[in-house]
Amino acid sequence: MDYLEKAQEVYNQNFGNETWYGRCIFLSWYCDLGTCKFCFRSTQKHKIKFAANAKRTLSSVIVEALLCKKLGWRIEFLTGGYKIFTIDDLIEIVKQVSNVFGEKIWLNLGVISEEDLERFRPYIMGIASSIETINPELHKEICPDKDIESYEKMFSYAKDLKKSMTIVIGLGEKREDFELLCNFIEKHKLDRITFYALKPVKGTVFENSSGPKTEDYLWWIANTRIRFPKMEIIAGTTPRRYEEVGELMKAGVNAFTKFSATKMFGTKQAFRIEKDIKKSGRKMVGTITNLPDIDWNKEIEALHLEPELENDVKKKMEIYLDRMKRQNNDDSGDE
Ligand code: SF4
Repeated sequence: MDYLEKAQEVYNQNFGNETWYGRCIFLSWYCDLGTCKFCFRSTQKHKIKFAANAKRTLSSVIVEALLCKKLGWRIEFLTGGYKIFTIDDLIEIVKQVSNVFGEKIWLNLGVISEEDLERFRPYIMGIASSIETINPELHKEICPDKDIESYEKMFSYAKDLKKSMTIVIGLGEKREDFELLCNFIEKHKLDRITFYALKPVKGTVFENSSGPKTEDYLWWIANTRIRFPKMEIIAGTTPRRYEEVGELMKAGVNAFTKFSATKMFGTKQAFRIEKDIKKSGRKMVGTITNLPDIDWNKEIEALHLEPELENDVKKKMEIYLDRMKRQNNDDSGDE
């Protein structure tokens, strides 16, 4: 596969050998739109009668941001379904997360109005648009209520914010559509793209699909790297596709995402990912296997949260750490 070699060469000419895990922080499991044909939220919509129960607490969002900071992960973006929180609530969450993480963050909350974007601006470095698939006909079919034009309009008033898109491979796109993707990236001068391999979800039309072949997933990523040598490329993996991460590095990604690093912390899969990254010649910043010796209560107190919130964050952190330690003991990581 010549394109993999070429992609690796292009990557090495433009970036250092470091890579990282990008944690996507979810705010909700419900989406008011709920009509995108591949999305798990499209199947849950009818099951979740009360949207209020399907959203994260601020304390667990803060715990995740702190884990990212202390374990060397980056926040891929903050995301969630449409119309779950009020805009005031969202701004407060984004402000808290960026404070805890110590940096401005990426936001992926659908189409944000110009007025609202101005309110987010002090806390964010960029906005992502979930384009999902670039072929216009296919897009209409897969995401009937989420038009690309609205995202394009949002990019037009983003000004100095960085811009990114996400794309899912395996929805029915053809390799001929690659030029459409390149045109979109060029038109909006994107700084970043995140690829995902379709994860077939029960109850959707893709239920019986097995997702894209590794070769196809790598083809899209490697060719994007070759065409856009300096753009940041992130690629998703899942517990079913974790053996691809070493290959993703060779295809020229900067980092990987979508791995359930808290649920899978210290598991065989996590060890395998770290090992494959090393084998590919990259150095992973941070860890998904080794819990450092940190006084977490002290770290939480240093955030100077309101007393009630601080207490909730401490309790929630204990739950996360217990699970992460348990996995560490269950899986010796001897691969
Ligand atoms: S808008 Fe996003 S969260 Fe909502 S159904 Fe579509 S893909 Fe899923």
